Amino acid sequence: METTLRGVGVSHGVAIGEVRHMGTAVLEPPAKQIPPQDAEREQGRARQAVEAVAADLMARGNLAGGEAQAVLEAQAMMAQDPELIADVERRIAVGSTAERGVYDAFAAYRALLANAGEYLAGRVADLDDVRNRIVARLLGVPMPGVPDSDEPYVLIARDLAPADTALLDPALVLGFVTEEGGPTSHSAILARALGVPAVVALPGAGELAEGTTVAVDGSTGEIFVDPSAGKKAEMEAAAAARRAALAASTGPGATSDGHRVPLLANIGGPADVPAAVEAGAEGVGLFRTEFLFLDDSRNAPSREKQVEAYRQVLEAFPEGRVVVRVLDAGADKPLDFLTPADEPNPALGVRGLRSLLDHPEVLRTQLTALSEASEGLPVHLEVMAPMVADRADAKAFADACRAAGLRAKFGAMVEIPSAALRARSILREVEFLSLGTNDLAQYTFAADRQVGAVSRLQDPWQPALLDLVAVSAEAASAEGRSCGVCGEAASDPLLACVLTGLGVTSLSMGAASIPYVRAALAKYTLAQCRRAAAAARACDSAEEARTAAQAVLSGE
Ligand code: PEP
Ligand code: MG
Repeated sequence: METTLRGVGVSHGVAIGEVRHMGTAVLEPPAKQIPPQDAEREQGRARQAVEAVAADLMARGNLAGGEAQAVLEAQAMMAQDPELIADVERRIAVGSTAERGVYDAFAAYRALLANAGEYLAGRVADLDDVRNRIVARLLGVPMPGVPDSDEPYVLIARDLAPADTALLDPALVLGFVTEEGGPTSHSAILARALGVPAVVALPGAGELAEGTTVAVDGSTGEIFVDPSAGKKAEMEAAAAARRAALAASTGPGATSDGHRVPLLANIGGPADVPAAVEAGAEGVGLFRTEFLFLDDSRNAPSREKQVEAYRQVLEAFPEGRVVVRVLDAGADKPLDFLTPADEPNPALGVRGLRSLLDHPEVLRTQLTALSEASEGLPVHLEVMAPMVADRADAKAFADACRAAGLRAKFGAMVEIPSAALRARSILREVEFLSLGTNDLAQYTFAADRQVGAVSRLQDPWQPALLDLVAVSAEAASAEGRSCGVCGEAASDPLLACVLTGLGVTSLSMGAASIPYVRAALAKYTLAQCRRAAAAARACDSAEEARTAAQAVLSGE
């Protein structure tokens, strides 16, 4: 029977498909003793699990081909290493369960690898993955990480970390549903980047049985479990009609009376560029460069690797504007070589610009790489720092840019309320502002953006957040500077109109949202947007603000 669940819709569209769960990290199996007569059976289970995992890795390698095949075959060989299997059997013979024997034998092998020089140490993660697969199989729990599936599916996860993102195949993930996360969590950002529908903050999602059919509406936040044929047809028809209407809206961003609001794309690297170009992005408003760093949390990517990635992005927008944000590590995006391990409160600790100022060589390499990448290109390069708190931060960043000989505009993200309140003083040091409304909401409401339970406070319609946007935009206008929005607030079509009314000068968002925002802006004049903004600011809650803005714009 069809049932309906409701979370927070964060990425438009409809996804209908079977549920697959993201496997959680493998827990350490309990160290319980088995009686001697069970040893043979446990050894048989262990051998079977090893064989099955090796066969699965080989099969996936065959399917993938190329470099991935070599990696997967090497993993299959690790699983079948005769010495490792002999060690597992020895441990079982003296009382370990199969899963505990595998776990301990791999731990011993892991220590050997980790101390055996750089190349072998680099294989530790592959070995851990093999161990996790064997242990998961023995425990009868889903494989850790992204589901192994050849068929498209709706991904269910507790939450998704940026590091998971590299592993997702957009051709297979129809949509996401997460238990945790709010509208500005990385799950939401990732869903928009992939252009797939998503719902977050749905506490019961983890209980949906593997293989259940669901229909996800990423706009309303509704999930229909076991939808009827009629429901599926109705949702598919509505989605198709919406796509057709959006395809009809093209050209640069502007209100109906021609007030220009450039629509820019948020990207994580060169792989996101084609979707941005296809959506008609007028440039890049936020290049989250930390995605280049997440492959290896122990070392920064080389200058050469960075130059190549930056150049690919810059070349894609020859005449356009490209705003690159320097590395924003820490808090939910920790990097071993930068982020202190023992912070009691990482979101309030050494993250963003703070960690770069503590590691000036990392910032210098990044700025030099940007400078080299932009050489000879007509692009309008702009470089900005995350987590700027005050004028001293802005000055330190601008000084570092100048010292690296960078020919670009330097800017500051407004993500901390102090930066919004003192925007004019920050603009004494840098040339533009970009509002990171995700973190700005997090710090204004003391509401962790990762925690679904406080998603109400992460709602970018909160009038207090709108006030801080207005204060920043007014300061920028008084100084003759630009003030864009690159947080997720920009991707909400109705809110985009309100932000325009508040004086924001550009809107940057995941490529998939651009047509929705373009179509909404084109419906209203600047004066209507201003009236909607004033009505929203006069309210006391996010819901009232949304309703008030809607009422003004629809002429009620
Ligand atoms: C923001 O905080 O709004 C922002 C754009 O940065 P990120 O989401 O990457 O922290
Ligand atoms: Mg941020």
